[in-house]
Amino acid sequence: MPSSSASVPCAARLWVSDTSRCDVLIAGAGPAGLLLGRLLAQAGVAVQVVDPLQDLRCGAFSSAALPLAAVHHFQLPEQVQAAHWSQWQLFGPAAERRAWAAPEPLGAVLDFGALRQWLAQRARAAGAAVQLGWSVRSWEPAGSGARARLRGPAGLERQVQCRWLVDATGQRRALIGDPPLSHGALVSGSGVEWLLQVPPEAWQPWADRLSFMLGSHWVPQGYGWVFPMASGQLKLGVCRLQDPRRTQPPLHQLLRQLQARLGLEEARVLDRHGGLIRSTIRRREPHQRGPLLALGDAVSTGNLLGGEGIRHAMASSEVLAPLLLEALGGRSEALAAYPRRLRRRLGWRWSLSGRLARRTWLGLQSAHADQRLGRLLQGLEAGSSAADLSALLFDYRFERYGLRALPYLLGWR
Ligand SMILES: Cc1cc2nc3c(=O)[nH]c(=O)nc-3n(C[C@H](O)[C@H](O)[C@H](O)COP(=O)(O)OP(=O)(O)OC[C@H]3O[C@@H](n4cnc5c(N)ncnc54)[C@H](O)[C@@H]3O)c2cc1C
Repeated sequence: MPSSSASVPCAARLWVSDTSRCDVLIAGAGPAGLLLGRLLAQAGVAVQVVDPLQDLRCGAFSSAALPLAAVHHFQLPEQVQAAHWSQWQLFGPAAERRAWAAPEPLGAVLDFGALRQWLAQRARAAGAAVQLGWSVRSWEPAGSGARARLRGPAGLERQVQCRWLVDATGQRRALIGDPPLSHGALVSGSGVEWLLQVPPEAWQPWADRLSFMLGSHWVPQGYGWVFPMASGQLKLGVCRLQDPRRTQPPLHQLLRQLQARLGLEEARVLDRHGGLIRSTIRRREPHQRGPLLALGDAVSTGNLLGGEGIRHAMASSEVLAPLLLEALGGRSEALAAYPRRLRRRLGWRWSLSGRLARRTWLGLQSAHADQRLGRLLQGLEAGSSAADLSALLFDYRFERYGLRALPYLLGWR
């Protein structure tokens, strides 16, 4: 929605008269925006981060499972890690259950609200102004930068003049917009998740492991999951790729079925949330438009295979920050390297993982697809450890199964 103002009744508009100024205005206090805010503020940049959320602990839509390497890399403290996991448990394609256990933790399930809260604290401590309750409604190029129009609590409006404006609004891409089709279609996955309160005996079988339900009898064209949270709490969710060629059953219906099949129907529902992951497969979309830059899910760092993107969104902040500092120092041309460097950081396996995701999830709606999945799971059970599964699903190391297996994995045979 570049430079167009959304229509609001005039009576609801209250102007804060003066235009404030900063070097960088970041729209979105998700993992990407908050980490970028911190990195820039640490380097002495005058940076503002704004988000319509009034409280970053609310609307915690993400399941937030991460591999241990990412927990270490981003130095995430214990307070944001709700649980650890050292096992994989896969149900499907029918009633089979397979499990892989490692002697050491393989990752964490974060409390997404606590993560955002902690990232905001760190950004503020570094000197960034994090302003909640404010969203960027429109923007336009102005002078050697951009002028953004913001809406805040009680219909308040104000303007910010900045040298660089950053779209960190996640898959909404509120400022940079959806990529043109010529840069690759957006593939969308939608997810719904409930936070459940269960007695200790119902929590124990799901503790210390990531559990997925795979196969068309569980969730056609997607998958279900149970992740542990703090003692006595579980995250139960379903996610699937959107297929415009089919009528797909409502996600809530699939979630209730999953809840009943797993014997969790007595659990108290503490929170219901959900959201979208929307990414192009090859990530060739524009990352910049004049004084506007985009990062995180707004430039397709949400991975479609495992429906995860927190660490990739934060990686995009680490790639963009030094280039933006160069640009602020007068070398704007440094930003030309941003898309290439981000692609390199995400690795050459990235688009393979996206293609595999599209093939696997969209194709998972027939007995034939279930059989193929069954063979794949059998093979993994026979020859892989829990660490191997992590390497496959988090590092996208498909080639370790041999080039001859790759076409099967990719669904080409
Ligand atoms: C159901 C579900 C489950 C998931 N599970 C996992 C998982 O297990 N592990 C994992 O790593 N990832 C997971 N993800 C993906 C992960 O949450 C995202 O990839 C990640 O949050 C992206 O970070 P971001 O900072 O780019 O965007 P976001 O986290 O989406 O943050 C964008 C922010 O922008 C704000 N905003 C929107 N519009 C405006 C505006 N106009 N002005 C200012 N601010 C605005 C929003 O309020 C939001 O706070 C899941 C996603 C979903 C939907």
